[in-house]
Amino acid sequence: MQVAVFGGGYAGVALVRRLEDRLPEDVDILLVDDSGEHLVQHELHRVVRRPSLAEDITVPLTDVVDRAAVRRGRVTDVDPEENAATLSSGDRVEYDIGAVALGAETAFYGLPGVEEHATPLKRVEHAERIREDFLAALDAGGRAVVGGAGLSGVQLAGELAALAREEDADAEVTLLEQLDAVAPGFEPKFQRAVRDALEERGVDVRTGTPVASADADAVELDSGERLPYDAFAWTGGIRGPGALRGERPRVDGRLRVGGSTFVLGDAAQVVDADGEAVPASAQSAIREARTVAANVAALVADDDGLFEPRLEQFRFDSPGWLVSVGDGAVAQVGPSVVTGRAAVALKASVGAGYLSSVGAVRNAVDLVNEELDLTVG
Ligand SMILES: Cc1cc2nc3c(=O)[nH]c(=O)nc-3n(C[C@H](O)[C@H](O)[C@H](O)COP(=O)(O)OP(=O)(O)OC[C@H]3O[C@@H](n4cnc5c(N)ncnc54)[C@H](O)[C@@H]3O)c2cc1C
Repeated sequence: MQVAVFGGGYAGVALVRRLEDRLPEDVDILLVDDSGEHLVQHELHRVVRRPSLAEDITVPLTDVVDRAAVRRGRVTDVDPEENAATLSSGDRVEYDIGAVALGAETAFYGLPGVEEHATPLKRVEHAERIREDFLAALDAGGRAVVGGAGLSGVQLAGELAALAREEDADAEVTLLEQLDAVAPGFEPKFQRAVRDALEERGVDVRTGTPVASADADAVELDSGERLPYDAFAWTGGIRGPGALRGERPRVDGRLRVGGSTFVLGDAAQVVDADGEAVPASAQSAIREARTVAANVAALVADDDGLFEPRLEQFRFDSPGWLVSVGDGAVAQVGPSVVTGRAAVALKASVGAGYLSSVGAVRNAVDLVNEELDLTVG
């Protein structure tokens, strides 16, 4: 019997590690990923200010799994009816039970010129390009525009403002958000604290400000105003992976898209057992993996297929939220919002704790050192 997991991000890695513990030895586990590396994406914005961090937040997948086979390949299609995936090489991967954890791609919503002129932030190369563009922009006049104030946009804007300060440059960082608050979907108290932290650091935060289009020199707003830029990054939204034709399938708490195929992490729109829409985030992806692991194990145990096994229902219960804003941080812990040194310490320990949990202890130590250097250096 073969269980195949597509995508080695938070969801895929957390799932494979659990399956390795839970499934009988005679079940083969295959992890397919296009990069062959696990990227700790929630620290990616840090690379804009500290390029050396890229090494700490990138771990070979063979180092984080145990008995699972790792195959490098780009998935172009998953067919839950056929229990099969197609790779860009033309190879077909057949499975008895499959899990799609391919993450999301950046959505540009067809806004004219935006995809052509903006850099998204999903991969290390993107962070490096944003850094290069911004440093070049500091010579040109220093106007950076970030489109989209979700978790990635607010943290990127914070890094750019901090980088300008470190370079002793008089840059202008503008963060655009079409909705009425930064960190849309989060609690108002958290949103206010994040906005304050950004504004304290000089970021020009414009909410209720949709982008209409962009050209090589300026971002044009719905209002008709043109915002000239020297560097332009886009973190305005996500869409499903190409292998799912750009869709993020809507699934209930069982996280199943077909008889033997599951979908989890950013690749899915999950409505949990309480009917709540689950935010696309690293912490949701890791938690969903626990439920999928239990459900895969139930299907494996029910190999004869006589009865439909009872599957677990995912219920999202977040311990809180945490973002960095340059050398500061904002944490929501239960009903309280924490800022200042306590939040900064929490941020460093969460990233390092995650890396340790997947066995990348050396990376974890380096990450803490870099984080401390970022915040006190
Ligand atoms: C800058 C930034 C800051 C963030 N901050 C936070 C935060 O503070 N807290 C939080 O909870 N979340 C945060 N997020 C969101 C979080 O990173 C994502 O929600 C999370 O990465 C989703 O996990 P995933 O496993 O679904 O997908 P991913 O982590 O994106 O993993 C997908 C994997 O699939 C692979 N893959 C993709 N396409 C293919 C293909 N066609 N074939 C084969 N392999 C493929 C990729 O290489 C990758 O390894 C942040 C994101 C960014 C970009």
